[in-house]
Amino acid sequence: MSGKLILVIEDNEKNMKLMRDLLQYEGYEILEADTAEEGLRLAGEYLPALTLMDIGLPGMNGFEALKRLRASSATAGIPVIAVTASVMTQDHQKITEAGFDGHQRKPINIDEFLEAVRDTIERFGAERLTE
Ligand code: MN
Repeated sequence: MSGKLILVIEDNEKNMKLMRDLLQYEGYEILEADTAEEGLRLAGEYLPALTLMDIGLPGMNGFEALKRLRASSATAGIPVIAVTASVMTQDHQKITEAGFDGHQRKPINIDEFLEAVRDTIERFGAERLTE
């Protein structure tokens, strides 16, 4: 499992481009999926160090995709950060309760976003090493 590989599941091309540019500039490798179905396939095949997940996706949404990732032993340990445009407190609560490992809001705050990416990969990478 590469600590530098990040899966981004996002159907909006502009948002995808922004995340791609930011993450590649920081030295991460990224896998891109514009549907949850494709994201699940890539997660199972490449076991990324982190998944960034949009919630509103064509077909399966981000909540269902998270459930499926967690239901498979191969992908259950991959941390998943929700990246959503929803600003309502109840949406944030729903995301936390669903079991996401973090929540970043769009439009992305660059410093906060990159810090969350770094911290989450470090935290989960360390947990894996001690298992
Ligand atoms: Mn979307």
